[in-house]
Amino acid sequence: MRLEVSPDGALVVTAPSYFGIRVIEYFLAKHAAWVRRKVEETKGRTAVRIARRDIPELKKQALTLAHGRCGYYAELYGVSFRSVTVRAQKTRWGSCSHRGDLSFNYRIAALPAHLAEYVIVHEMCHLLELNHSAEFWRHVERCVPGHKRLRKELRNISTVFV
Ligand SMILES: [Zn+2]
Repeated sequence: MRLEVSPDGALVVTAPSYFGIRVIEYFLAKHAAWVRRKVEETKGRTAVRIARRDIPELKKQALTLAHGRCGYYAELYGVSFRSVTVRAQKTRWGSCSHRGDLSFNYRIAALPAHLAEYVIVHEMCHLLELNHSAEFWRHVERCVPGHKRLRKELRNISTVFV
């Protein structure tokens, strides 16, 4: 039998079909402390659900979004970039090279709009400052006020693939 707590706090029990409900209940009761701890850990986290079959479409959407917003912010900040690409990255939301190549995680298309906007502004501002200095954050703040709260929100995002 297998117990799993997904990032949105849902408990999934996998058991062979011939297991009676009593056996499953017994198993759950035995592991109650573990389940409680795992569910507790997911509190304050936001799950973004992505259906695997939607990934190609999300990649297209992310590219359109990134192109549009990068064009807009480049004008606003008075910067230029060389390229915009979308990738499947596990941990990063975006990156910016010293040559001006911007790269975004396709999952920005599944984020709440204000967080996707923050990710894009963050990478755009690296065209001005290739570091996380106070100056860099001042640039971010010009277009995304309250970036500290947004960063925290973004850190609490978990992706659940379905
Ligand atoms: Zn950065």
